[in-house]
Amino acid sequence: MSFQQQFKCVLPNGIHARPASLLESVCNPYCCDISLHNLRNGNVGNAKSMLSLVSTDTLLNDEFVLMFEGEDSQTAMLALTQFMNERFPYCDDEIAPLEAQREIPIPQSLSRHKPFLLHGKSLVNGIVKGKLVASSEADLSLFLAHSSVDAGPSFQQVHGAVVAELEAEKLQASGKESEILSAHLSILKDREFLAYIEEQLAHQSIAHAILAALESFKAMLERSNSQYLRERVLDIKDVALRLLVSAYPNVNIEQQSQLSEATILLARELTPSQFLALDKRYLKGLVLSDAGSTSHTVILARAFDIPTLVNVDYELCHAELNSDVYLDCLLGVIAIKADENVSVYFERALKLQQQQKQRFSEHTDKLAITSDGHELEIAANIACSIEVAPAIKGGAQGVGLFRTEMLFMDRSEAPSEECQYQEYREALIAAQGKPVIIRTMDIGGDKPLDYLNLPKETNPFLGYRAVRIYPQFLELFHSQLRAILRAACHGAAKIMIPMVHNVEEIRWVKQQISLVEKQLEEAGLEYNNSVPLGIMVEVPATVFIIDKLAHEVEFFSIGSNDMTQYLLAVDRDNDAVSSLYNSLSPAFLRMLGQITSVAKQYGRWVGMCGELAADPKILPLLVGAGLDELSMSSPNIAKTKQQVAGLSFLECEALYQQACECSTRAEIEMLLNEAISKRSALPLLDESCVFTQLEVKNKEEAIQALVGNIGVFGRCQNALLLEEDIWAREEIFSTGLGNGFAIPHTKSDNIEHSTISIAHLNNAINWHSDSGNVDFIIMLTLNKAHSDQHMQIFSKLARKLIHEDFRGQLKAATEPSEIITILQNELFSS
Ligand code: PEP
Ligand code: MG
Repeated sequence: MSFQQQFKCVLPNGIHARPASLLESVCNPYCCDISLHNLRNGNVGNAKSMLSLVSTDTLLNDEFVLMFEGEDSQTAMLALTQFMNERFPYCDDEIAPLEAQREIPIPQSLSRHKPFLLHGKSLVNGIVKGKLVASSEADLSLFLAHSSVDAGPSFQQVHGAVVAELEAEKLQASGKESEILSAHLSILKDREFLAYIEEQLAHQSIAHAILAALESFKAMLERSNSQYLRERVLDIKDVALRLLVSAYPNVNIEQQSQLSEATILLARELTPSQFLALDKRYLKGLVLSDAGSTSHTVILARAFDIPTLVNVDYELCHAELNSDVYLDCLLGVIAIKADENVSVYFERALKLQQQQKQRFSEHTDKLAITSDGHELEIAANIACSIEVAPAIKGGAQGVGLFRTEMLFMDRSEAPSEECQYQEYREALIAAQGKPVIIRTMDIGGDKPLDYLNLPKETNPFLGYRAVRIYPQFLELFHSQLRAILRAACHGAAKIMIPMVHNVEEIRWVKQQISLVEKQLEEAGLEYNNSVPLGIMVEVPATVFIIDKLAHEVEFFSIGSNDMTQYLLAVDRDNDAVSSLYNSLSPAFLRMLGQITSVAKQYGRWVGMCGELAADPKILPLLVGAGLDELSMSSPNIAKTKQQVAGLSFLECEALYQQACECSTRAEIEMLLNEAISKRSALPLLDESCVFTQLEVKNKEEAIQALVGNIGVFGRCQNALLLEEDIWAREEIFSTGLGNGFAIPHTKSDNIEHSTISIAHLNNAINWHSDSGNVDFIIMLTLNKAHSDQHMQIFSKLARKLIHEDFRGQLKAATEPSEIITILQNELFSS
């Protein structure tokens, strides 16, 4: 007996693993053979095998027929028809398009070239190019070498063990993870998959059989037109790997990522020690599918200035392995399959970035002094001694935060006193006499250590962490103190205690230091008995007793990461409240002044070592609040020094006072914007913004080059936003004026120093206007505050350009200074 029924696929992602396993489970109870015939591509699959169903490549709107052959085929057909009409259409959610995560608009100089972009969230800025390589990708062929004699468990035992393992994991899992484990379980139990392996086992080893099955199903899926289905190959690989690891437990597949060329590393997650083991000469960028913005791997990536993108779809990226990609963490994208236009965009973006770095580096060896002579110290945050030398080279005036807990993580037992002594000593020597603030271990909370067996907590950030655990792990604390005091003979060490919230805690710490000094004395070991002691100000309670604490310690450093979360009661690692995690609140700002004013009365200095210390927007407020030191990841140091040089201390103080009187964050932001536009302006016409021989092939390149250059010379904070304003104008009407001239223009909030940029092009380009090609561009980017000038300059220029001799003069000029003089005379002399 045979029956058949035709259907249409209404699932947005086609019949992929999840709907296929549901369909399989509905078909399985019937004895008859059930097959799916795709009428678009002619593929046929066994409807009782999820993998076989997936391999039919049935996509949205495909017509297909279900065929039933055998005893109960009529009953099966009726049941399946009902299932197909009632349940199947609703069994899969549409996958949210990746664009949903986008934060910064893609500039039109890029988007007009229709690039392939994968989006994510940028945690460390920068643009890089490299080969996309997966971290520790297991080399499955290693198993073949061990499979000459299968003396271990039988395939049935291996299979049973892996099913049990996955089921146990699934019990612990929830959400997406649980769904993925279910999908993997159905692959593991798939009839066709198992039948294929069994067939191979008749004449091959277990490793060969599993790998042959993997290859066969991989080939089937890779033929699919759907990218989504092609990417399911990874799930089959995962399952195959689990089987192989279980069959050959002695094979070591944990390969270190050996990098040998410029690499952008892709990983689902990366531990701090895995990150540290990577060769930084070749590691250009990191792409992680999952990591929080204050996770310690990300903090390390920031310290090493490795552009990092997170929340990226791992599988979409994985499909591009081993190809050259551009990682642009300003835009939050990875550009894959870049064609010539897209490559030209990114190569120019890389060059602009390089020019900007070059400009910041002029400040590396300078002091951070405001225009009216107020000096701040700019120090580095580090996590291990090897970071000190590059930080000092990058302009750090010391180490403001040495996060020592990183030495304790990713190992099976605590580092010995000797090992710590060496590490601190090396850091102090590398600092060449500059101060190094060694923070004692900040363990617990978000930084658990398996070997301490700390209890699981509902509220770890409010729980057993940092100074609070020291009494229980007294010997561990003592050995760290001994290591610091001994190392302090080799440089200017200071000790800083995390999470202190009252005077009792710091008095207890001081008793421990005395005790340890006695121990060192008795042991006849050399140590420094006058190491300055300070605390992190990161628990709001300390703010109200700074006077009392000032009697106990010599310095304070504000941990803005924790202080923001505790002051505002917003978990720093919880995405759901991330929009509330913002230090630009009147409460936070007022708190800063309270700390500095009281600390100063007692002659104590105050630094800041959280992420906020490197925020250029907030810098005038930190200066105005009276902070003495700012400590940050080293790539930000030269830039911050340059920014400090452009500020006036008196103005910052006044601005800070005004900000403290604001009621809302929006008011503070407005105040900061106004202050920017008031700061002493650079000249409208300057040689740095004139190109006499610009080589570009199209309008997109020209606008990117001119606006990017404005960013390089610090005339705007965000060139990408300014570019949007220029294009917005172009969209209303093209700014080609004829005779080879164009005047793109905008009045905008995104330019701090109004600028006229000029470019004489080597070749005429299509400006997409009725007035023909263009080889001379005069771009006006004027701040909204100067908007009265905007129309004046534009209309004057347009009038002048009617005259052939004026045009001739401009085109004949070979030096930027000549062009400036011509424009100066014609536009601004009365
Ligand atoms: C902070 O809380 O701001 C800080 C610097 O410490 P951590 O980020 O290590 O908790
Ligand atoms: Mg902290």
